[in-house]
Amino acid sequence: MNNKSKIARKTILITGAAGFLGSHLCDRMIAEGMRVIAMDNLITGDIKNVEHHFKNENFSFYHHDVSKFVHVPGDLDYILHFASPASPIDYLKMPIQTLKVGSLGTHNLLGLAKAKDARMLIASTSEVYGDPLVNPQNEEYWGNVNPIGPRGVYDEAKRFQEAITMAYHTYHGLETRIVRIFNTYGPRMRLNDGRALPAFFSQALTNKNMTVFGDGSQTRSFCYVSDLVEGIYRLLQSDYNLPVNIGNPDEITILDLAKEVKDLIRESTSEIVFKGLPKDDPKVRRPDISKAKEILNWEPSVSRQEGLKKTLAYFKSKIANDQ
Ligand code: UDP
Repeated sequence: MNNKSKIARKTILITGAAGFLGSHLCDRMIAEGMRVIAMDNLITGDIKNVEHHFKNENFSFYHHDVSKFVHVPGDLDYILHFASPASPIDYLKMPIQTLKVGSLGTHNLLGLAKAKDARMLIASTSEVYGDPLVNPQNEEYWGNVNPIGPRGVYDEAKRFQEAITMAYHTYHGLETRIVRIFNTYGPRMRLNDGRALPAFFSQALTNKNMTVFGDGSQTRSFCYVSDLVEGIYRLLQSDYNLPVNIGNPDEITILDLAKEVKDLIRESTSEIVFKGLPKDDPKVRRPDISKAKEILNWEPSVSRQEGLKKTLAYFKSKIANDQ
């Protein structure tokens, strides 16, 4: 018997568990010796991302939409709320579900956390900063969001989610944690979710034009998924209840990112083409991670060069299997 099984097993509910980030969090929490209750309505998640746990007695899966009342039997120690459409294309296609899962879903889960005396960590986002007027963004920046623009359904749902989570903390004394997640990539991203990296990889691997929006001078800062999961795990274990940015501050223009992906796939004959810039597309984005460094002793360790290579291996096998 190892040390982990000697201590009482903690139970964690993970929503959005079949999604990109949710499934990596399931892996981590199972590895930490927890009992994982996974929940997903599968509108953007993929059950294949978690089916390797199906035979594990410490893992169970509920096909459920958390915008409706959530019931979970027994004790709960933690809730990670990661359910939401999360790419611009997804939330443009599903604006109402996006608003509901961030608002009604969060309310249901906060109620559940209160009833079970569980600690709740919510997945917020750099989108709360909107099209930021300062760069890098620290947690004190209030953001520049267009509430009625195409991104408003996601940005405002996430801002409401932070507000109601803080209210439960302040008024009910609930243990809450808020992570503001910046662009993250790695295995299990969907090929067709419209995001820049999956688009560039799938285009370059199939010799199609690589579509850079605008002139490609807008910037993002990409964090490899294992670094993000480590940051979230540390935040969950910490006693800090204000928002914390987790992301990789290594900023790059989208045009340079497209070039990096193309250079990685040497045999590709793809060419970079320019398309219209989507409305309200943030011009810059880079996390200030001083707080995560200070409070969680966390900073990313996987370089983009290393992370892109690992992600390429995943997309190659995914494209081969899908054909
Ligand atoms: N983008 C692009 N080509 C694509 C998809 C996205 O140039 O095929 C751009 C998009 O306009 C944005 C950046 O890449 O400026 C990152 O987009 P993504 O959807 O990955 O995430 P966002 O950070 O905008 O939520």
